[in-house]
Amino acid sequence: MSELTIALTKGRILEETLPLLAAAGIEPVEDPQKSRKLTFETSATGVRLLILRGSDVPTYVEFGAADVGVSGKDTLLEHGGSSFYEPLDLQIARCKLMTAGIVGQTLKSGRIKVATKYVNLAKRYYAEQGRQVDIIKLYGAMELAPILNLADEIVDIVDTGNTLRANGLEPRDKIADISSRLIVNKASMKMKHNQIEALIDAISVAVAENAGMQGAA
Ligand code: AMP
Repeated sequence: MSELTIALTKGRILEETLPLLAAAGIEPVEDPQKSRKLTFETSATGVRLLILRGSDVPTYVEFGAADVGVSGKDTLLEHGGSSFYEPLDLQIARCKLMTAGIVGQTLKSGRIKVATKYVNLAKRYYAEQGRQVDIIKLYGAMELAPILNLADEIVDIVDTGNTLRANGLEPRDKIADISSRLIVNKASMKMKHNQIEALIDAISVAVAENAGMQGAA
């Protein structure tokens, strides 16, 4: 067996990814959620995990620093392009990518200001809508922008909508349904085909079992 490096997104996605990997026989030798290390050996010989910031996962996989990655669809849409394969929807960390604005306020006509961390994605979305926008890049606390008149709308991830409501905002249009995806480096898919196919198959089974459990709940 060759070495296999899997890049994972830290935080909420990691929590939901680890059980899927465990079901495929890959368990980190140390708990990544309790350690500051960035790489972890696993119970599977030659399989190593990297714990990265979400927006770095597609880059590691694109350039082959990792063979396989787990990344939110929001991050993949923002990264853009087709520089890796996306063979499997893990159906975890589900949420929606939405526009949002101040409750009850109708959007003015003409050019608007949009605050978001998803600059590329937002540009594409508003262009498709035929809207002229100035995009303002923020790294967090997007919800403040409309209240403080920095922006007319924001583009952000919404799960329960509690964060929007707590800040006097409401969801408007859905841009995309989001969940985490397995991505694979193109060269690795050829060079390590059997190993990666086996991994995809094992994780698919765990995903189907998860979906079955949700259906039964
Ligand atoms: P909520 O209040 O439930 O709508 O969630 C609000 C915040 O939680 C969002 O602004 C995101 O920053 C974060 N969030 C919710 N779901 C996800 C997810 N699946 N992946 C990453 N971040 C999320």
